[in-house]
Amino acid sequence: MKISQEQNKHYDYIFAGGGCAALSLAWYMNKAGLLKDKTALIIDREVKNSNNRTWAFWTKEAIAFDEIVFKKWKQIDFVDSQKRKNISLDPYSYQLIRGIDFYEFVLADLSKNSNIHFTQTEIKTIEEKKAAKPIVHVAHESFSTDWVFDSRFNKTEVSSALYLKQHFKGWIIETANPVFNPELPVLFDFNTPQKNLMRFIYILPFSPTRALVEYTLFSENLLSENEYDAAIKEYIDKVLKLEKYEILETEMGEIPMTNHKFSVQSSDRVLNIGTKGGRSKASTGYTFLRIQKQALAICKSIEIFGHPKPQTQNNSKYHLFDSMMLQVLKDRGDLGEAVFSRLFFKNPIDRLFRFLDEESSLADDLRIMSSVPSLPFIKAFFKLKF
Ligand SMILES: Cc1cc2nc3c(=O)[nH]c(=O)nc-3n(C[C@H](O)[C@H](O)[C@H](O)COP(=O)(O)OP(=O)(O)OC[C@H]3O[C@@H](n4cnc5c(N)ncnc54)[C@H](O)[C@@H]3O)c2cc1C
Repeated sequence: MKISQEQNKHYDYIFAGGGCAALSLAWYMNKAGLLKDKTALIIDREVKNSNNRTWAFWTKEAIAFDEIVFKKWKQIDFVDSQKRKNISLDPYSYQLIRGIDFYEFVLADLSKNSNIHFTQTEIKTIEEKKAAKPIVHVAHESFSTDWVFDSRFNKTEVSSALYLKQHFKGWIIETANPVFNPELPVLFDFNTPQKNLMRFIYILPFSPTRALVEYTLFSENLLSENEYDAAIKEYIDKVLKLEKYEILETEMGEIPMTNHKFSVQSSDRVLNIGTKGGRSKASTGYTFLRIQKQALAICKSIEIFGHPKPQTQNNSKYHLFDSMMLQVLKDRGDLGEAVFSRLFFKNPIDRLFRFLDEESSLADDLRIMSSVPSLPFIKAFFKLKF
């Protein structure tokens, strides 16, 4: 791995931001041989050497990062205030990749290619003048390039009527006695006071004595850190009824849930990737696999057309569905439990996953829509349209 120190150097590709989306794309490009005779620079203000997040997702196919999957589950529990439903995910599984494992795996591979350079610095601006190559300005130098992949998401750039946040804090706890079923995550447990907002607990068990217990909200405003902690503690005390446990690690974050129409092409030679490129699914926040799909589409475009501008798909149907969900959750956060319970109780999981993966048929869509409380969604539809 070379650390760039040269002034005003030119690279074929610059990755502005070197997190999940940039590293995934660079990894696929490198693997496909697209960086054999090309130079690339990955710029990030942080060093990726901590377990700063974990990525969970469902899939029924092998993925490129199979060998670093930390845990796979074949079933989940969904719990609302009335009942608990155990759901077999077959043919899907729910999987988890730890951030640190991803960074180490990808960086180890990329560092073997001397055409790929890294620099740790703050990007100031990306300048693109007509008919000229883009220039990326960092603290004391500037780099020119043929293409920029920009993943520096900034929520102030999102001008949208509907902007909720999926915000959360989780504790990885170790208990004195075995209490968790390591084969059974809890995707949603609504047994936490709702207080007119959609709030739930998410549990990923790693062993009989170790699990991530995360308090999550889909709402407009963040809480103070104490409020997340208090809610996790209350759930552990009252629902799990644990007396002795130790907090090993914590995870905190937010993911945008917005119907803002993200554009992949920021300008002629600057492409937005990752969350900045609209890869966070508006109604769920799941992003990781959508990033992988986008990276593969960019590679395919380079291979076939010689440029990295992937063909865009018409996803207006899902944009409307996501917008309706956001509108309902914004106006009636108190209905979050009912909406999600019905989605999970009244639909087979493969139909629900096809819908959330944006691969559903019209019949799937109609069945999904008829499973949720209709009036709030009809109201949301008219509010969005008029
Ligand atoms: C705590 C957490 C947990 C998540 N869990 C899941 C999950 O379980 N499943 C899922 O599907 N999604 C999850 N997500 C959502 C999403 O997958 C991640 O946010 C993912 O990292 C997005 O990738 P990205 O490349 O767009 O952004 P990032 O990975 O955040 O990368 C952007 C990079 O840009 C750098 N950067 C920004 N501005 C500058 C600048 N001016 N100069 C230099 N560098 C800059 C940042 O340092 C960062 O490294 C989670 C998000 C968070 C925050």
